[in-house]
Amino acid sequence: AASIPDYRGPNGVWTLAEQGKRTFECRDPVNSSPTTSHMALRELYKRGLVRHILSQNCDGLHLRSGVPQKSLSEIHGNMHIEVCREGCSTLRQYIRPYDVTKKSQFRRHKTGRSCDHCHTELDDTIVHFGEVGRVQWPLNWAGTTDILEESTCDLLICLGTSLAVLKQYDFLWPTGEAKKRAKIVIINLQWTPKDRVATLKIHAKCDDVMTKLMQQLGAPIPEYCRTCDPILNSKRSARSGELMSRITECSCAGRGNTRRNYAPPSPDAVTPSNDLVTPGWWTVGISRSLKRSLTSVNSGQTTRRKTRGKRAKASKTRSQMIESSSTNDSDQCAVQEEVSALVEWLVSSV
Ligand SMILES: [Zn+2]
Ligand SMILES: [Zn+2]
Repeated sequence: AASIPDYRGPNGVWTLAEQGKRTFECRDPVNSSPTTSHMALRELYKRGLVRHILSQNCDGLHLRSGVPQKSLSEIHGNMHIEVCREGCSTLRQYIRPYDVTKKSQFRRHKTGRSCDHCHTELDDTIVHFGEVGRVQWPLNWAGTTDILEESTCDLLICLGTSLAVLKQYDFLWPTGEAKKRAKIVIINLQWTPKDRVATLKIHAKCDDVMTKLMQQLGAPIPEYCRTCDPILNSKRSARSGELMSRITECSCAGRGNTRRNYAPPSPDAVTPSNDLVTPGWWTVGISRSLKRSLTSVNSGQTTRRKTRGKRAKASKTRSQMIESSSTNDSDQCAVQEEVSALVEWLVSSV
């Protein structure tokens, strides 16, 4: 929904790169914006209804929506973040308003820029096919596993992900006592390998579900503000260390500023020291109080199949399928009821 090129899917940037195909047709992800789902999740997080977000996307849109980094696990990396992982004694993050992967290649992570402190060449944080991501940030596996180990996760929402990758991580899925307590809700137009264990499967588009959910909660979805985007304006957020621990709010209102389209500087125009993350900033611990539920999120996947009842005929185009699914009244009614159930669980899990 955010017009982001897929880095890892069958037509993903890295898959095509491996096959030697050019991928320059892709729109620059920096020009994309967080979707309705991203902004709704940010509001749910702010209200304490969502505790943690795990994303398979590398687009950084959850961070750009204003969710603090400590509550995010970007398990496949973030295209805006490069790190010094060898030179400095502790991992140092550099958050850039541009795509840091322009010079890196398949399984070659060097970005061509170097660390301000030790001058070691920086690595991007994207986890390619066949790799195991070990960088502490922005992957933040610990943020997810801590919640699960505390056994207080009672609601797990899977938004728009095929779960093809996540199903392989056994530790993400509740077992034993936790399984009895934790509800799994899957929101997807296509079949997923976890449908059978889901407490509820909602066959609908993520943005539609999130819009209905927020309406039922009586919570407005905040508008994304490009001017206050914590990554595109990373100088400000990095200096104050707020990106890690605080929700980034739009500060335009009341100051007479109008929200404008912020034009990010080109990589060449930015000197690395300008947006250096304050030393020690990334070591902020993860608050123990924020570990009551885990929301697994990936809102950037596309829909390929509609599987309510029987599978849609292969001859139907994707857009026809989406249209038919969103205009069917009985489907809409069912979705409304399913969302009501989800709202109830969300509120009661706090
Ligand atoms: Zn360094
Ligand atoms: Zn703003």
